Amino acid sequence: MLFRQLFDPKSCTYTYLIASGQGREALLIDPVRDRMNLYQQLLDELQVKLLFVVDTHTHADHITASGLLRQQYGCDIAMGEQAPAECISLRLKEAETLNLDGISLKALYTPGHTNDSFSFLMNDRVFTGDTLLIRATGRTDFQQGDAYKQYDSLFNKLLKLPEETLVYPAHDYNGMTVSTIGEEKRFNPRLQVSSAEEYANIMNQLNLAKPTMMDVAVPANLKCGL
Ligand code: FE
Repeated sequence: MLFRQLFDPKSCTYTYLIASGQGREALLIDPVRDRMNLYQQLLDELQVKLLFVVDTHTHADHITASGLLRQQYGCDIAMGEQAPAECISLRLKEAETLNLDGISLKALYTPGHTNDSFSFLMNDRVFTGDTLLIRATGRTDFQQGDAYKQYDSLFNKLLKLPEETLVYPAHDYNGMTVSTIGEEKRFNPRLQVSSAEEYANIMNQLNLAKPTMMDVAVPANLKCGL
């Protein structure tokens, strides 16, 4: 298996390139439009065939490269069935799998950051989008975000995975690249709560500024970034 974690410094987004060793089939999770040249270069150099682009949710802080990648490579664009964009070609349901040659990703519906947030489980690792970040969790104050739903996604789904499961988030602002479920259970300050109410209180008092890109990014992402 080929696995690459790529970083967009402007939006602090992680993009993941996964490819099978056998058929050289590949997928990209959360690609950023500004980084299109890098993806083209890498897909070319590594000689892999892009079959799927997956967005974990409708992003508000960067524009997806999904539409450009589909134009270039004819790949499918996969998102959760709740995603509002009409340009998506594969609408994933809870527990459905995306299959490459010898690799499968299981879709886990984990709403809360947005209503269309999914995580993707692949063997020893989980791509948590903005549901579970390293030592943080994704904000819940816009795009039908809901702190109670996020509590449920975290405590009744993601944190039930084996403790050694690697956590690969969609963003990091502090230089962290990967964590584990066990590490987050112990050290993530947002997870040290004893009830959904306590969690919602923390989330509802964050008072974060609106993402600067939001008014541009959301409409663009409803058209797969085109
Ligand atoms: Fe997000």
